[in-house]
Amino acid sequence: MSKPIGAHVSASGGVCNAILNAEAIGADAFALFTRNQRSWVSKPLAMDEIHAFKDLLVERGFSPDHVLPHDSYLINLGSPDEETLQKSRAAFLDEMQRAQQLGLRLMNFHPGSHLNRISEEECLDQIAREVNLALSKTEGVTAVIENTAGQGTNLGWKFEHIARIIEGVEDKSRVGVCIDTCHTLAAGYDLTTEMGYQFTMDEFERVVGFKYLRAVHLNDSKKGTGSHVDRHEVLGEGAMGKEFFRRLMHDPRFDDMPIILETPDPTRWADEIKWLRSLLM
Ligand SMILES: [Zn+2]
Ligand SMILES: [Zn+2]
Repeated sequence: MSKPIGAHVSASGGVCNAILNAEAIGADAFALFTRNQRSWVSKPLAMDEIHAFKDLLVERGFSPDHVLPHDSYLINLGSPDEETLQKSRAAFLDEMQRAQQLGLRLMNFHPGSHLNRISEEECLDQIAREVNLALSKTEGVTAVIENTAGQGTNLGWKFEHIARIIEGVEDKSRVGVCIDTCHTLAAGYDLTTEMGYQFTMDEFERVVGFKYLRAVHLNDSKKGTGSHVDRHEVLGEGAMGKEFFRRLMHDPRFDDMPIILETPDPTRWADEIKWLRSLLM
């Protein structure tokens, strides 16, 4: 049983730096932005940067299967606004292409928001159509839907939303899910007790299916179950309770996929990773 663990590390100064930053905290998985996450346009990855990334990844012992690029926060594939949708479509394709260029297999994205101008169903179906479009123009990269806390009009907080997007994606082998544990709790799925954990995971299996699970964002939550507030907390210091992390680390349904910390204090990531590994002893 293998549980590769890492964090969403900085790629400032170039994507190769993400590998070094991951290595420095003792990670064997990591997440990164491959472009400026707050800008619509980014300059293309240079050929030498792509080669250097691929070489360094192998040299430092990371598997490309355990690297999880995250898309730009600006992208809204569910946008009811034509201009935003067009920008989102282009940026999303660019994100998928960058992952492919870097030899990676996953690209983690937030589903989108309806902004109260279209129905939830219309929004979810539009997201699926946009994913189909990007998949048709790329190869080998899976679009990984992240569940959300349900802040504002963001969709993807109910497992049913995720199931509906997957239903609309033609190539089911290239669509997956990333469970963010803070978002799950904030969305209203209790994870703080043994019973809550079992119920939530059974519900995920029933509605979505673990066969689609490709990654985990392992975060504690500042706010409690059903708050719809997306505030990550250091592991063991939030509302989840320490036992939650032991349960997940011993759950074989989370084997062999990147487990990524997005907790608020990077200086504690190395210790958080050590602590998670110690739970397996
Ligand atoms: Zn995210
Ligand atoms: Zn997340």
